[in-house]
Amino acid sequence: MRIILLGPPGAGKGTLAARLVEHLSVPQLASGDILRSQIRQGSDLGRTVQQYLDSGALVPDEIIVKVMISRLCQPDCSAGYILDGFPRTLPQAQALDASLVELESQIDLVLYLDADAEVIISRLSGRRVCPVCNATYHVDNIPPAVPGKCDRDGAELISRPDDAPDVVRTRLENYRRLTQPLLDYYAGVGRFHRLDGNKDISEIYQQALQVLGGVVSPVDES
Ligand code: AMP
Repeated sequence: MRIILLGPPGAGKGTLAARLVEHLSVPQLASGDILRSQIRQGSDLGRTVQQYLDSGALVPDEIIVKVMISRLCQPDCSAGYILDGFPRTLPQAQALDASLVELESQIDLVLYLDADAEVIISRLSGRRVCPVCNATYHVDNIPPAVPGKCDRDGAELISRPDDAPDVVRTRLENYRRLTQPLLDYYAGVGRFHRLDGNKDISEIYQQALQVLGGVVSPVDES
């Protein structure tokens, strides 16, 4: 199962992807996480992209395309993957399609998480992330068991610097200008589905499972 998650920052793509990963046993390929990990490692790539992430600008297409196409060719992606945050521009989507043709592969499903501006702002301002494993929390909606600590590894949770209000404005503007046109690119194809990202994560997950045709008991899965 090869899935693309589309939607504005804060719509819940990462949180949904983390749940789908467990259900489908395929990796989550989160472009932002991959770039942040390169920055933490101090690699050449990390140094090149840092300025873009800090300011909320998109990394140039040719850089991110190379990173993500080589990632999805790794052996752990042979049974599928969930693309979270890529593609984000029309040229990225076209480059992905061209690579998939070469690989004799295809995307099975595009899930579009739609969310209202006020929901997005509240999600981003309350978002906390684990710098070690990238797990995502929200101070009210998805709190960790111990305040400020990651449930998985106990690391101190942080706010992402690009969740600061002025950077969020730039990211949302870039989303409207560069990423929204992708909805037309993928819409109208049978594999495109809109999910209501204003709902809480359990409901979004149930919507996604319905689309996937999965029948999973809420008791087991929520
Ligand atoms: P995210 O974690 O998906 O919100 O991404 C954080 C930042 O990483 C974005 O604001 C961009 O600077 C960069 N980034 C992530 N994915 C992409 C992409 N597909 N194209 C360009 N830049 C990206």
